[in-house]
Amino acid sequence: MKLIFTVLAVFLTAFSINAQDQYIYCGQLIDVESGQVLSQKTIIVKDDMIHAVEDGFVKVPKKAQLVDLRESTVLPGLFDMHVHLESETSKDNYIKPFTFNEADVAYEAQVHAKTTLLAGFTSVRDLGGSGVNTSLRNAINKDQVVGPTIYSAGNSIATTGGHGDRTNGYKADLMGSPGPAEAVINGVAEARQAVRQRYKNGSDVIKITATGGVLSVAKSGENPQFFEDEIRAIVETANDYGMLTAAHAHGDEGMQRAVRAGIKTIEHGTMMSEETMDLMIKHDAYYVPTITAGKSVAELAEIEGYYPDLVTPKAKAIGPKIQSTFEKAYKRGVNIAFGTDAGVFHHGLNAKEFGYMVEAGMPPMESIQSATVTAAKLLNVFDDYGSIQPGKKADLIAVSQNPLDNIATLENVSFVMKHGKVVKDSNSKSL
Ligand SMILES: [Zn+2]
Repeated sequence: MKLIFTVLAVFLTAFSINAQDQYIYCGQLIDVESGQVLSQKTIIVKDDMIHAVEDGFVKVPKKAQLVDLRESTVLPGLFDMHVHLESETSKDNYIKPFTFNEADVAYEAQVHAKTTLLAGFTSVRDLGGSGVNTSLRNAINKDQVVGPTIYSAGNSIATTGGHGDRTNGYKADLMGSPGPAEAVINGVAEARQAVRQRYKNGSDVIKITATGGVLSVAKSGENPQFFEDEIRAIVETANDYGMLTAAHAHGDEGMQRAVRAGIKTIEHGTMMSEETMDLMIKHDAYYVPTITAGKSVAELAEIEGYYPDLVTPKAKAIGPKIQSTFEKAYKRGVNIAFGTDAGVFHHGLNAKEFGYMVEAGMPPMESIQSATVTAAKLLNVFDDYGSIQPGKKADLIAVSQNPLDNIATLENVSFVMKHGKVVKDSNSKSL
């Protein structure tokens, strides 16, 4: 018996030596909870966790490793509340459903996941794909693929012919009539069934397309596409499973129905009226603006033939409006959570959104909080993520300048640590 304990003790010692403690010297550290920029701190990381945050640069024990970020500003890993890791904008995107197998989607998706993580986004909410996004989440969680922590919607729920009905624009025999298993619903019973199917498929969150959308091959980008009782059935069912709900919405009527029915985050929100803003405040709903996507689709629509004919005018009309809606909503006091719709533009450019938010009147610290504290709280993971505190997962990034002086520095993240593992270090020659 004693021998067993000895062997066990030796094994455990060997194991703990393997995972070296890391002492991270931070020139500046952004405390997103207090909204303060702190100077000269040492973060001590044990395994995948933040063990302590000490004042000054504390002595590094012999067996520990120094990570020298004395010339940098350190922040918690960023969250993007709206990405699509399975795809990325390109001129041939509309024929990919006919030419791409699921495995092709998966191989592309893992590239996008890595790009996103290296841009400093250690957590993302994937708001719609084919289900590969959920498998990708699992592979990343098992350390088989490099990428951010994913909160996956699986595929988003639409109504027949609505934004997100994947068979829109197909010829009749291919169009068929997808049902709730494939996330197309009509009526309350199917709405509940679709949520339960997503739960069964392993989705973490529920996304619906409450109004028309820009990139679907359909006439309107704004019309309401769900009845309020359908949305309410979705929200109530999602709440039973503890799943956060998100609604894509450009038009105001669809947005109001979604907010009244209890949807927690409104995505894009392009034509949001002041009445809807007040309704969102009343219902404690959050606005995820995706300004970057709006600007990108408007630019791409200028390229002849980039989008199908039905899409181009919508992209030109809707895209440029989001930033001014954000400005008004922020000033009125609507809760804001950071999200970009990456995939609609190139992955890895997510941090451009910060610049657009600041340009529209949000103070830099608040924009950073919207991508850390706020996002982690919405996803109900603030005990483990979203700020640099002992007992949380060691998800950290660093930039060369203080982002409060120059918000664009977040577009050039020099250091990324996820769960205690350094995945990017531009300053270190050994990587
Ligand atoms: Zn989207």
